[in-house]
Amino acid sequence: MLVSAKEMLTKAREGKYAVGQFNINNLEWTKAILQTAQELNSPVILGVSEGAGKYMCGFKTVADMVKAMVEELKITVPVALHLDHGSYEGAKKCIEAGFSSIMFDGSHYAIEENIEKTKELVETCNKLGLSLEAEVGSIGGEEDGVVGLGECADPAECKMIADLGVTMLAAGIGNIHGKYPANWPGLRFDVLASIKEKVGDMPLVLHGGTGIPAEMIKEAISLGVAKINVNTECQLAFAEATRKYIEAGKDLEGKGFDPRKLLAPGAEAIKATVKEKMELFGSINKA
Ligand SMILES: [Zn+2]
Repeated sequence: MLVSAKEMLTKAREGKYAVGQFNINNLEWTKAILQTAQELNSPVILGVSEGAGKYMCGFKTVADMVKAMVEELKITVPVALHLDHGSYEGAKKCIEAGFSSIMFDGSHYAIEENIEKTKELVETCNKLGLSLEAEVGSIGGEEDGVVGLGECADPAECKMIADLGVTMLAAGIGNIHGKYPANWPGLRFDVLASIKEKVGDMPLVLHGGTGIPAEMIKEAISLGVAKINVNTECQLAFAEATRKYIEAGKDLEGKGFDPRKLLAPGAEAIKATVKEKMELFGSINKA
């Protein structure tokens, strides 16, 4: 059974650790992440971008696959299925498809429109017992073709959105999606601290978790971050392991071309990455 992210994030904030959101792209990805969470007794959030949802033949296909896999693999740790950077229409579709958690990213709208749309989704999600993540101040890098500038969120605007009753809040603090450039100046902890001061106990979400140094992750958690999104790092690990398998000519040995063999090293690499992140975030044995 899928659960809302509310309880796991409240516990994480109180216990000073963070729950990882790992984005899924296909069956292998989903299986690797669920198995690792179960093995490590950690809560987990599966993230699905609109692009990944489309790739996997629609949100209903995704929701039904994840629900069935949780049942068949006898996964007992809390699992939330979460729309990542959803549009207003995408949010509605995921609610209908059976997702247990929604992110509505209205950060590209003027704050008034972001508030209006977020408010409506708060009502719908509350009614259905789903968690809702909102975003203030766009997060840099590229996400499904949308390029942000890595701005920092305005703490006063964060409070306006938090007060609508969302479950968790994503706010730009100098973090970006994808690989970080060599000259990246680091997270803005001063901004994070003023956001925290304004929004109080609201669990904060750190996007773009790939490549942020461990010390910065820990400091962010100590300042109220309770959910950290990881996507690119699993993709890089999967690609590297698959490339090595093929470069070593293993697909040409025996039945090495069998997709169940060809994709196995990549799946193992995803598992290792997820494990490393759960250790860093402190979510192991917190299920
Ligand atoms: Zn993001």
